Amino acid sequence: MKGKSHELINFSILFLLVPILYYLDVGGIPLFSFGWVIGTLYLSPDLDADYSRSLNRMGNLKYLFWFTTRHRGILHNPVFWSFLFLILVFLRHAWMGAGLFGAALVHIMVDKKN
Ligand SMILES: [Zn+2]
Repeated sequence: MKGKSHELINFSILFLLVPILYYLDVGGIPLFSFGWVIGTLYLSPDLDADYSRSLNRMGNLKYLFWFTTRHRGILHNPVFWSFLFLILVFLRHAWMGAGLFGAALVHIMVDKKN
C-alpha cells in the first residue's frame, strides 16, 4: 500500500479513537495523539522501504535505521513495536508509546490485507 493511503487510514482511525478515549475519560489523549502522529509520519514501519515518505521526512536521521535492511522485516513485526512500547512505559511515556504502538499496529494490519 502507498504511504499516502497508510497516512489517510491512520489519521482516520485516530480521528475515531480520540472521541472514544475522551468518552472513556482516560487522560493522556494529547500524548497518545502525538505518539500516533509521529508513528504515522515519521517512525512508521515503512522506514525499512527505500524512498518511503517517512524515511524521506527523517532526513539524515534515516541512517539510524541502517538495521532495517529488508522491507517488511523487523519493522513490520509487532514484537518490535511492543518492545518499543515497553521501553517507553519504563521511561514513563506510556501514552506516547501507546500512540506509536497503535499507529504501527494499524499499518501492519493494513499491509497484511494487501
Ligand atoms: Zn508497510
